[in-house]
Amino acid sequence: MTDHGPVLPLWLCAGCSAPWPCATRRRELLTEYAASPVALVLYMGSYLVAASQDMSWAPAGTLHRRFVGWLA
Ligand SMILES: [Zn+2]
Repeated sequence: MTDHGPVLPLWLCAGCSAPWPCATRRRELLTEYAASPVALVLYMGSYLVAASQDMSWAPAGTLHRRFVGWLA
């Protein structure tokens, strides 16, 4: 289990206060989903949808890069 979960509705990391997913959590996710990268994209996509609702003021492209773009 990770200490680096998101604090809602701010979407800051509970472990290091960086914008979530922080560098540590991204590393953990890549490890956890090493065998199924497509599942990770879908998983982060669901976070993107939720975060877009919480941060409706944020440009969609910025959120997309933050939640899904780093997987490319
Ligand atoms: Zn963190």
